[in-house]
Amino acid sequence: MKNLWNDADAEKMVADYAKKGVGRELALRVYTTRLLGGEPRLVLHGGGNTSCKTKGTDLVGDEWDVLCVKGSGWDMAVIEPQGLPAVKMGALLKARALDKLSDEDMVALQRSNLIDPASPNPSVETLLHAFLPHKFVDHTHSTAILAIVDQEDSKALIKAVFGSKMGYVPYIKPGFDLAKVAAEVYDADPSVEGLILDKHGIFTFGDDARQAYDRMIHYVTVAEDYVAKNGKPQAAKAALPAKLAKPSEIAPMLRGAVAVARGEGRFDRMISDFRTSDAIVDFINSAKIADYAGRGVSTPDLSIRIKTGPMAVPAPDADRLGDYKAVIRSHVEVFVKDYTAYFETNDALDDVKRTMLDPMPRLTLVPGLGMFGHGRTLKDARIASDVGEMWIEAVRGAEAIGNFQPLSKADLFPLEYWSLEQAKLASNKPKPLTGQVVLITGGAGAIGAATAKLFAANGAHAVIVDLDPAKATEAAKAAGNNSIGVGADITNPAEMRAAFDKAVAVYGGVDILVSNAGAAWEGRIGELDDATLRKSFELNFFAHQSAAQNAVRIMLEQGTGGVLLFNTSKQAINPGPKFGAYGLPKAATLFLSRQYALDYGAQGIRSNAVNADRIRSGLLTDAMIASRSTARGLSEKDYMSGNLLGQEVTADDVAQAFLHQALADRTTADVTTVDGGNIAAALR
Ligand SMILES: [Zn+2]
Repeated sequence: MKNLWNDADAEKMVADYAKKGVGRELALRVYTTRLLGGEPRLVLHGGGNTSCKTKGTDLVGDEWDVLCVKGSGWDMAVIEPQGLPAVKMGALLKARALDKLSDEDMVALQRSNLIDPASPNPSVETLLHAFLPHKFVDHTHSTAILAIVDQEDSKALIKAVFGSKMGYVPYIKPGFDLAKVAAEVYDADPSVEGLILDKHGIFTFGDDARQAYDRMIHYVTVAEDYVAKNGKPQAAKAALPAKLAKPSEIAPMLRGAVAVARGEGRFDRMISDFRTSDAIVDFINSAKIADYAGRGVSTPDLSIRIKTGPMAVPAPDADRLGDYKAVIRSHVEVFVKDYTAYFETNDALDDVKRTMLDPMPRLTLVPGLGMFGHGRTLKDARIASDVGEMWIEAVRGAEAIGNFQPLSKADLFPLEYWSLEQAKLASNKPKPLTGQVVLITGGAGAIGAATAKLFAANGAHAVIVDLDPAKATEAAKAAGNNSIGVGADITNPAEMRAAFDKAVAVYGGVDILVSNAGAAWEGRIGELDDATLRKSFELNFFAHQSAAQNAVRIMLEQGTGGVLLFNTSKQAINPGPKFGAYGLPKAATLFLSRQYALDYGAQGIRSNAVNADRIRSGLLTDAMIASRSTARGLSEKDYMSGNLLGQEVTADDVAQAFLHQALADRTTADVTTVDGGNIAAALR
C-alpha cells in the first residue's frame, strides 16, 4: 500500500489550523486520519479510529492532559479537529484498575470527562487508545490484515507473517474488556509497534503522527505481500446461463423481495444500488460464492451495514426470467429464516431484552451481473455496496492463502445487538416516504417541482422527468435527498421507457407515479383542427397512459403495491369555453385513473387524481393572469382568489394534495379538488 505522507501537505495543514488556534499535534492527527480514511481498503464509513494524547484547556483556563479520539458519526476521510473530541486522560487511566465496567458506564465515564460537553460521543475503542502510552494511535480494519486474521489457525499465521514486532490480541468485543487485554499484551512486550486484533483489525502506534501512520502502511503492506506471494489459484467458477438477464430486469423483483411486509398490504421498502466491475463479477462467479456468503462478515463492525453477511442468489437466465422472481423470493425466505434463528438462539442466552431488527439482507450477490446494496435510503444502499466491495477483497485474500474463517455468528451477535453500535444507526429515523421512489413527469414545472420538493422532504427519492434536461437536473437539486433529473419527451414511448429505466438503474424501482405533465391548446371545438386535438391527446392523455403502464409494469414485478397520481384539471369536470382541446383528453385521463384503480386494486396499486384550477404555472403564466384579470375588470389578486375561500391556490397546495393521496393508503379512485372551491366544478 502506497504511503501518502507528504511533508509539504502536512506542514500546510499545521499552518492552516494554527490560524484557527489548533495545535500542531492535533493538526497532524487530522492530517493522517484523513490519509487513512481516504483509503477504503483501510477504513469504511465510520469504521476505524485514531487518537492523539495532547493538552487541552477548559473554559476556566485549566490545562489538562487529554486524549483527542475520533468521535462517533465522523468520517475519517473528512475529519475536522472537532471530530476528535478531547477527553481528560486522568479518569480514563484510572478506569484500568476496575474489574469490570458496563458499556453504559463506559460511555458515561467518557462523556463526563469531555472538555467540551457538546462533543460527539468518543469512539467505543477510546479506552484502548487511552491505555496505550503512545502519543499517536491508529486503528483500521484493513482488508489485507483481515485476509490473515480471518483464518482458522490465525494466531500462528499472525506470528509467522508479522513476526515479534506486532502483538497478538485474541477476539474480544470492543469496549472495556478488549482495552484491558490489549494493554496487557502491550505491557508484556513494550517493544511492539502495533497490535493485530484477531478477526477484527490492526492498531499501530508511535511517538509522532508520521511514525504511527508509517507503521500502519508498513504492516498492511506486509500482509498484502504475504497474500500476493502465497496466494493459491481461485476456486472453480460456477456455470452461467448462456444468456444472462439484465440487472434492470431483476432489480424490481429483488427490491420487492427485500421489502419488509408490515401486514395488510403495507411495506417498508428499500432502495437497491447496483454495483459491478470485472473484479466483483470475477469473484462472485466462484462456484463457492454461496458458501463464502454464508460464513459471515470480514470484520464485526460491518454487521451494522450488512447484518450477518451477504445473500447469494443464482445467476438469472434471460430465457427463464419468468421463474426468477420465485427463485429470489425463496432465497430471501431462507435468509430471513436463518437470520431469525440466529437472533432467537443468541437472544435466548441471557435476560437482556432485545427487539429483532428487520431480517432482510442488505447485500445481494448475483453471479454474472454484480451486486445490489440494499438500504432504506440511497445513501445506506450505497454504503452496503461499498462494504460489499471490501468484503470481497478480504474474502478473496483469505481464500487465496487458506480458508476464510471470520468471527463466528455467535460472537457477532453481541456486537450487532450492542446498544452502542445500534446508536450509530439511530439517527436515521424514517420519514413517511423513506425507501420509496417517486417519478414525476413535468417535474421541472411549478407543480412538478413543488411536488418533488415535498415528497423528497418526506423521505422519497424523486426522479424528475422533464422535456428540458437541465431544468430537470436543477429541480432535482432543489428537491434534495439524492433525487435525479432526467430529460425526456414523454410523448415518445421510447423516451418514457428510458426515464423509468433510469429510475430502476439508480434506485431499483418505482413506487409512486405523479403523472403531471400537460399543456393547453385553445380554440372553439367546431373549428379546431384535427392535428391540434390529436397533439393534445398525445400529451394530455396518451403520455399519462404510457407513464402509468411503465409504472404498473415495475410495480407488478416488485409486488409491493404502489400508487398512480394523475394531474387532471378542472377542465375534466367543468369545461371552459374554447378549452375543448385541453378538457377532452383530461376528462379521458380522469377516467384512466379510475380504470387503473379498478384493474389493479387487487395488486395493491392505488390510482387517484387531483383536479387543480387556477395555479400560477407554465399553463397559467403571469402574462395570462394579467390579460384575463383585465378582461374581467378584476385586480390580479381578485382574479386569482376568485373562489369560495377567497384565497389564491398555489403549486404547493397541489403538492400537498398529491402527498396526501400518496400517504392515504386506503384511498383509491379518488379525485381531490384543489381550487379553493368552485361549485360549478364540484364533483357530484
Ligand atoms: Zn475496530
